[in-house]
Amino acid sequence: MQFKQIIGQEAVKARLTAGVDRQRIPHAQLFWGIEGCGKAALALAYAQYLNCTNRHDGDSCGTCPSCRQMEKFVHPDVHFLFPYNKEAGGSCNDLLPRWREYLSRSPYIRLADWTAFSGAAGKQCIIYSQESDILLGKLSLKSYQSPYKVVLIWAPERMHETLANKLLKLLEEPPAGTVFLLVSDEPDSLLATILSRIQSVHVPPIDDAALGSQFDPDTVRIAQGSYTRALQQQSDDTAARGFFESARQLMNAVVLKDLVRLRDWTETTSKTGREPIKRFLDYVSHIIRESFLANLGQPELLYHTQYEALFIDKLKSHIHPGNVEDICRQLETARAQIGQNALAKSVLFDMGLQLFTKIK
Ligand SMILES: [Zn+2]
Repeated sequence: MQFKQIIGQEAVKARLTAGVDRQRIPHAQLFWGIEGCGKAALALAYAQYLNCTNRHDGDSCGTCPSCRQMEKFVHPDVHFLFPYNKEAGGSCNDLLPRWREYLSRSPYIRLADWTAFSGAAGKQCIIYSQESDILLGKLSLKSYQSPYKVVLIWAPERMHETLANKLLKLLEEPPAGTVFLLVSDEPDSLLATILSRIQSVHVPPIDDAALGSQFDPDTVRIAQGSYTRALQQQSDDTAARGFFESARQLMNAVVLKDLVRLRDWTETTSKTGREPIKRFLDYVSHIIRESFLANLGQPELLYHTQYEALFIDKLKSHIHPGNVEDICRQLETARAQIGQNALAKSVLFDMGLQLFTKIK
């Protein structure tokens, strides 16, 4: 990982590279900040920079033998500790191939994603105490080829107490030529004695201008400096737009009393699967309630995207105190029938016909 591959964070990059250039290399640093700000990516780029044999222009070269090994996360002098569940693997060493595969997908990593990727979805992950002996064994060996050995500990707040105490001893008498890089969302959960022996590298949220080069303004606003949140928002938004488009087709058919349109909509929607249909009906209920509030002059427009606001503005004259309850009940009935495995096509078509009579 080179610094140039990381979104924004120019000030942090400059500080990190300047330290190495001046040979001021702390034996332990804690990269901390919100989830998705790029802490792990920066720690990886720092480790690569440290051992690159041809650094230039404030970055590692990406092509020397050390960089090539770092890019694949197979550098023999770089050791990883990360949380896992014993159902997924017996040790960090066992899980290393999986871990490398995970990092190579994106360096913007999240514990919940890694837990699932490692094969322990929904399970608790920790860094087990046995890792201390494994690590001490590795550190007692001479470094293979580089000036620095690097130990990268991701989510160190998940370390077993025994391991945390062993690490503390290592930090009190750091082995020569070894650099510890800790990466944490929750630095407050670390032992105070560890924190006091480690240099803090605060990684701020990614600035909006940098995120704006990859995401639209709505996504940037919601992401609040987190790349992972921006990605999540983008995928939620794609699903929401699909629901919106389908809701628009349904309400157009209903308002125009157009049976052909209703039939076409039913054909398409009934094929999307029971769970998506249930979520879609929840979405339509939400739009109906919002249109009703807009009709009463109390729109909660903050929660709408621009395209929803325009649609609700057109729909509001059709939703009033005389029909809003009936419409919502109709949607709930259809939702329940879908949940009871009724034939989706007939449930949706009947629901549309009922809505014909309720929406003038
Ligand atoms: Zn290099």
